[in-house]
Amino acid sequence: MEIRLKHLTKTFPGNPKKNIPDTHAVEDMNLTVTDGKLFALLGPSGCGKSTTLYMIAGLLEPTSGEIWFGDEDVTALAPEKRGIGLVFQNYALYPHMTVYKNVAFPLTNLRIEEKILDKDGKEVLGPDGKPLVSKRRLSKDEIDKLVHETAKIVQIEEYLWRKPSQLSGGQQQRVAIARALVKHPRVLLLDEPLSNLDARLRLQTREEIRRIQQETGITTIFVTHDQEEAMSISDSLVVMKLGVKQQIGLPQDVYNEPDNRFVANFLGTPPINFYGGRIKGNKIYIGKAMVREITEKKIPNQDVTVGIRPEGIVIDPEGPLTLHVERILTMGRDIMLVASNPDELRPEKFVIDAFEKVGVGDVRVSIKPHKCFAFSKEGKEEKLI
Ligand code: ADP
Ligand code: MG
Repeated sequence: MEIRLKHLTKTFPGNPKKNIPDTHAVEDMNLTVTDGKLFALLGPSGCGKSTTLYMIAGLLEPTSGEIWFGDEDVTALAPEKRGIGLVFQNYALYPHMTVYKNVAFPLTNLRIEEKILDKDGKEVLGPDGKPLVSKRRLSKDEIDKLVHETAKIVQIEEYLWRKPSQLSGGQQQRVAIARALVKHPRVLLLDEPLSNLDARLRLQTREEIRRIQQETGITTIFVTHDQEEAMSISDSLVVMKLGVKQQIGLPQDVYNEPDNRFVANFLGTPPINFYGGRIKGNKIYIGKAMVREITEKKIPNQDVTVGIRPEGIVIDPEGPLTLHVERILTMGRDIMLVASNPDELRPEKFVIDAFEKVGVGDVRVSIKPHKCFAFSKEGKEEKLI
């Protein structure tokens, strides 16, 4: 099911009497989630991810804008009619119920509509000419079948008779996912589903979610503040800041070609290194060091912020830039160089292959052109190159 947000906006009103300003949680959000794909909403805490998700779920009413599922405008539709499955960070399982009952729960109140057929199997029409329908609950057997089918996909069949307290965090989260999937929703919405898990389980469960999503082909929106999580799990993602969309695209494209300084800074571990610099004669300088020649287009001379990705250096005695390496951290496959940068609050960090020889002190390096960006110092600090 394709999901489209059109000019979606949510403002939480403040209180002028108490001098509390309005909160612009989501501003003019436009995006399309392709049918059957996993889309990540990514950004720091408070940037409006949950607000966006809850509007899609129907739990929050937009201030303005529209939400479309396929060719249906669902903006005013009640949450239970949208056909969504929702998973929260804290699992929200019923502690006194078994796993089986937790998963079955959404089905117990479900009424399915069936067309009334005559003895020849033809639809019976009402006075308005529309087919008559009857509503009924699912039978015990039908519920049992759905619970077992879903438990199988999520791989919790062996825990069906346990209580949530007898499960690990990862298993509980899988139960929550099963509960969201059991009604065969059109859309799966996940709000930071891995945040309560420890590092190893987080990795495992992330793979699990990807597998389940691909096996079921269900259109999924995954909210996270963790850029690595978003990059690794999603088909495409949007980066948000203070309620405003910054960039949307394939994870690797957004990493390789960040639209602005915020996006460049938000994606990547260790983070990108920034320097004060300038463009002169279509060359990028940090101090006197010329770190990149721009051949792609003409850019006017100006002061800029230079960004160099940690993997963007090559040890090179003839290189233009000197790093003041203070510490060397061995990380198995790679070596991390921690260098001092008097102009920045955080130290520079670079990553090189473990076989390269380098010691503490001054090291000359050259810069890989496609890992070196220049950002405008003005406005949204857009990437110039
Ligand atoms: P995220 O999920 O990205 O951390 P949220 O969507 O929860 O961010 O919040 C976005 C902004 O809206 C934040 O500034 C938050 O304080 C504010 N906000 C969220 N819910 C409410 C509310 N019910 N009333 C007022 N402000 C809210
Ligand atoms: Mg949130």
